[in-house]
Order: sequence, then structure tokens, then C-alpha cells
Amino acid sequence: MRALRWSLLFFAAIGPLSAQQTRRSALTQRFVAEDAPVIVLAHVKVINGTGQASLPDRTVILRDGMIDQLGPADKVSSPAGARVLDLTGYTLIPGIIGMHQHTYFAINGRITQMTVTGPRLYLAGGVTTIRTAGSFFPYNELNLKRAIDAGDTPGPRIFTSAPYLNGVGNPAYLGTVLKTPEDARRVVAYWAEEGATWLKFQGAVSRAIMAAGIEEAHHRGMKVTGHLCSVTFREAAALGIDALEHGFITNSEFVPDKKPDICPANNMLYQADVDVESPIVQASIQDLVEKHVALTSTLSVYELFMADRAPFQQRVLDAMSLDTREMYLASRKDLGAAGGYSVSTRLFAKMMQYERAFARAGGVLTAGVDPWGNGSLPGYGDQRNYELLCEAGFTAPEAIRIMTLNGATVLGIADRYGSIEAGKVADLVVIKGDPETRPADIENVTLVFKAGAGYDSAKLIASVKGLVGLQ
Ligand SMILES: [Zn+2]
Repeated sequence: MRALRWSLLFFAAIGPLSAQQTRRSALTQRFVAEDAPVIVLAHVKVINGTGQASLPDRTVILRDGMIDQLGPADKVSSPAGARVLDLTGYTLIPGIIGMHQHTYFAINGRITQMTVTGPRLYLAGGVTTIRTAGSFFPYNELNLKRAIDAGDTPGPRIFTSAPYLNGVGNPAYLGTVLKTPEDARRVVAYWAEEGATWLKFQGAVSRAIMAAGIEEAHHRGMKVTGHLCSVTFREAAALGIDALEHGFITNSEFVPDKKPDICPANNMLYQADVDVESPIVQASIQDLVEKHVALTSTLSVYELFMADRAPFQQRVLDAMSLDTREMYLASRKDLGAAGGYSVSTRLFAKMMQYERAFARAGGVLTAGVDPWGNGSLPGYGDQRNYELLCEAGFTAPEAIRIMTLNGATVLGIADRYGSIEAGKVADLVVIKGDPETRPADIENVTLVFKAGAGYDSAKLIASVKGLVGLQ
């Protein structure tokens, strides 16, 4: 009886379902501001995700969750009865596809799952699809993905990853410790059965273990990425890895006296002095490109380890629980302290240079937030990546492509997602202002369309105020 009443209420709220719309619970529907079957976004500037120049004064028509039409505003007319939004002064980009995301939040060794805050902050920030890069609570993540897919709770589409795949000697209490290639095969097979689609190797694994894991993963249709140190980028590429996380900072290839299968004591000491333009680095990049290994940029989280420039935002504090806030503020005071983890200005510049070189060589560069207790939050950090990619020398359309279509390419969904083109799913971000001329405008997200339903960004953010670190 109760169930029947709810389903009646539900249908009363949203009407009959069209083919492209998913079911939405009353909770999810609370955050949806626009859900007419036909929505016209008129007079909007479009950065379409393909890397092509931006298009001023466009009109985009969404129908049944799909992008139906787009063109110059004076050439596209609104269908009768359509819901029309005049977006003069706004910019439209594809839904962001975040490629180094997590559903947990770690601070001072305390790890909580962002079951509520994570999905809402991602969506509020314009992130409509995520790939997690290692998970600590894999069943929570898998169930969360299923709940979002079922419309039970608002959030981005999730490509889930299995628990981190570590070698012996990693202080990873929540990861998997692989001692032999057989371990790798068994663990990968298990998580494939459970529904994970990505794996991440982290830290000290041997090439033999990685090779077995990659082979088993590919056999089961999964993909593999890595935050590496014991295995170099080129070695991992030769083993068939699909992607590499964090870019240059984790590439141990250029450390003098690098021992096979062993993580160097501190490759960051050397990285800042490596000449990215040198033939040896260029040849390495070329090798990655030829083997179709994607690279994930995570500049925004590393910037937060720089004492002289870590951004500080009230909205980050507002999202945190009281004790999380205290720990975060204390950690900021320690930035740059002797012995602490910090990223130098020179190294940061080198990371940017490497990413530019990789992309110019034809490599598929993607971006991700890597949420962490140092102030890196879902959605907000993804937006900051855009500003940093622009600072690194990418044009606005190139930076948007890195954050959208390139991610779709790596996930194998570029035929339906990642750019603003007729026939694709209507995943779109409405931004007040113009991030092409003022990169920081990317933070002014007002409405986020996921499969044609427009979510109210401010409402999502308000609903998780003070909750990061708790739920
Ligand atoms: Zn990470």
C-alpha cells in the first residue's frame, strides 16, 4: 500500500517516463529544477568539448534527455510548448567527466565514505560522470553507483574501481596486498564478478604482478590504471596498462639508478630537474602515445600542497563538518614545514609542461580531482583543474576537451557522451559568465543537466553543508 502510494506520488510529480529519462525518487527529484520533455537553451555561448573554437549565441534543443539540435540562435526556432531558458551571458559546456575521483574522503588518517556529499558535490560542480581511481569501500561504491543509476539518489554516473592493488610493503591497510601474479589474477577476477570496471595499481608492485593483473583485467573487459613508482611509465605501457595517474610527478623513469620493481626513495627530488624537451623524455612520451596510454592530470590536488599558492575558499570550509574543518585548517598551517609533503613551484611548472607536451604529441590527457583532506573537494577541485589547465597553456576549448570528451574516450563512451553534439545524451553544464575570458567563471555553475534533467547546483550544495567528513 505504502509502495503504491509512493509510486502514485512519483508519477504525479514527473509524469510518464520517456525513453531517455530514468526514474527519479522523490529525493532525487527535489534537486531537479528543469525536466520538461523539450527544453530550449537559447542565446548561450557553447564550448562543445571537441576542442574546436567556442560558438557564440547558440540555441541548443534538448528532447527526451538527448541533444536534439543546435545551431546559431537566429536559425534554430523553439518548438511549440517547449520550456525556453534565455541564457544570454551564460556559457554551456559538456558534463565534466572526472577521471581521478574518489567516493571517500581522507584526512589525518580518518577515512569516511562520501555517500551523500560526494555524489551531490560532483553533480553540483558540473561533473556528470566519474571514474574512481581506487576505492577503499568498494561495496559502498558499487551500491552507490546502483542507487544513482536507479534514480534513488542524485549523483554522477560512476565507473567504479576495485580496492587499490598494492604490492608488499605498502602501508595500505584498506587496499589489497598482492604477493604473486596468481594473487593478482584471483583478485582481479573476483572484482570483475562483483561489478567493478576499473583497477588501480598503486605503489610497490612488481612488473610480473602488474602484467598478470592487466592480462586478467583485459580478459574480463576491465581497464587498468596506476599510480606508480616501482614500475616506470614506459614499462607499464609495455605491459598494456590503459592509463597513468597524476602525470609527471609519478613517473620514476628518469630517476638516476632506478632499480627494477623498486620505488625510488624520493623521485620528487629529481623530477624538477628533468628536461621535458630532452630526447629521452620526448621518446618516452611518444611511446605512451603510440601504445594508447591515457594520462590523468590532477593539478588541483597538488597545488594544495604548495605553501605559496594553495587556494583557500570559503565554500570548501562550508562543506566540511566542524572537526574536518579544524583538521584542514591545522594542515594548512603545516604547509611547507620541514619534512612535510610539499610540491615546489619548479616541479609544478614541470608537471604542467609535461602534460602540454603529452597532449601536443597526440596523447589523450584527461583530468580528475583526487579529493583529499588538504582541501580538495569533489566538483570544486574539478573546476580548479580547468583554471590550472588554462594556466598550463591550453586554450579554453582544449582544457574543456581534456575534462570532457577525452574522459569519454578513455571510458569508451564517446559515441554518446563528452561533447555537445546532436544525438548525444544531454549532459550539460550551464555556467554564468564566460570561462574562456575569465577562467574562474567555471566556478559559477548554476544548472547541471544529466540526461536532460537540470539539477539545481546551489540546492545540491546547500543540502550537504557541513557534512564532508561525516557522510
Ligand atoms: Zn587518488
